[in-house]
Amino acid sequence: MNLLLFGPPGAGKGTQSALLVERKRFIHFSTGNMLREAIREGSELGKKAKSIMDKGSLVPDSIVISLVEDELKKLKGKNFILDGFPRTVTQAEALDELMSKLGLSLDRAFFLSVPQDLIVRRLTGRRMTKDGRHVYHIEFSPPKKMGVCDVTSEELIQRPDDREEVVSSRLEAYEASTAPLKKYYEKSGILVEVNGVGSSEEVYSKIVSSMNF
Ligand code: AMP
Repeated sequence: MNLLLFGPPGAGKGTQSALLVERKRFIHFSTGNMLREAIREGSELGKKAKSIMDKGSLVPDSIVISLVEDELKKLKGKNFILDGFPRTVTQAEALDELMSKLGLSLDRAFFLSVPQDLIVRRLTGRRMTKDGRHVYHIEFSPPKKMGVCDVTSEELIQRPDDREEVVSSRLEAYEASTAPLKKYYEKSGILVEVNGVGSSEEVYSKIVSSMNF
């Protein structure tokens, strides 16, 4: 079973992916994580991506598509979740082509819908460890000690693109480029719309119940 999770930034794609990985043994495929990894490594790709990501814009399709090409091959024979890819119709078309070449297919495209005011609260209050492995929220799931990770005792940081002034650009990029994917997956018959408001457990139950998995 292969899934896509998409929706506005802050809809809970990463949180739901983590639950599905932990409980259902999916492989998590996140272009955001891959790009942040490239930035940490200081690669040419990372250097190009950083300034684009820091201002809340989308990395160009050509860069993202070539980044995923080789990685997607490794997913053959595994159950996987695509998180944050595709983010444009051009990427979705490229993905369809790549998947059909590899004999793969997507079973469900979950659209997580969340109202804009909640998105802004979720993103601007999010804090995490530098590697993004442990994620908190100053209001909804605070660490025991403010600013410090419960697990590793590292200082928590705010993702540069979670700053309030960048969030509005991310929302604009979402509306202009990613929202049209809803129609795209509706046409292909695999769209499942899930209300992303509520606790992560509530949203998770809705996703799992529509999968018979
Ligand atoms: P995410 O971690 O999915 O929220 O992605 C963080 C940022 O990485 C986005 O705001 C984009 O700048 C960039 N990014 C991640 N995935 C893509 C993609 N599929 N296409 C273009 N840009 C992307």
